[in-house]
Amino acid sequence: MNSDNFSLKSRLQIVIIANNKNKHMDEVKKIIVKEELFLQLVEHAKKSLPYESVSIIAGYIKDEIAYAELVYTPENIDKSPVTFTVDPLVLLDIYTAIEEKGKTIIGIFHTHPSPPQPSKTDMTYMEVNPYVWMISSTNNIENPSGFILKSDGELKEVEVSIIQDSVQV
Ligand SMILES: [Zn+2]
Repeated sequence: MNSDNFSLKSRLQIVIIANNKNKHMDEVKKIIVKEELFLQLVEHAKKSLPYESVSIIAGYIKDEIAYAELVYTPENIDKSPVTFTVDPLVLLDIYTAIEEKGKTIIGIFHTHPSPPQPSKTDMTYMEVNPYVWMISSTNNIENPSGFILKSDGELKEVEVSIIQDSVQV
């Protein structure tokens, strides 16, 4: 292993440790996304068709509500209609950018061909990525459902609220 790999591994571990502190995600009941950001998610999902798409949502959490402020729309390197993967280096760049802006990851939005319920694979990833998972069916992208896999293993539905840009939150 060369030193570049080592430092990458260390940085990834730091990100993972930081993210596992997200126990307060358990309490989140609602995610609020302004229309402008939501349209970025929808546009990315539509452009990615017929493949699945994934976006990362950053922002903050206050009083059991997750507020979206930034979205990142990486490519699905699987180029698959049934799975998604983000290049780990792209993901690391996104994590670093979010950290530098003083924000935290609050959600992951992805599309899949089946109804907007977490698949078995999704549940595995939800366990290590304890954020609000917004899921849309690829034939109804504008209507995502929201879920959190709580730290006790319970799958909880989270309200997804798309609000007009002019609304103050
Ligand atoms: Zn899925």
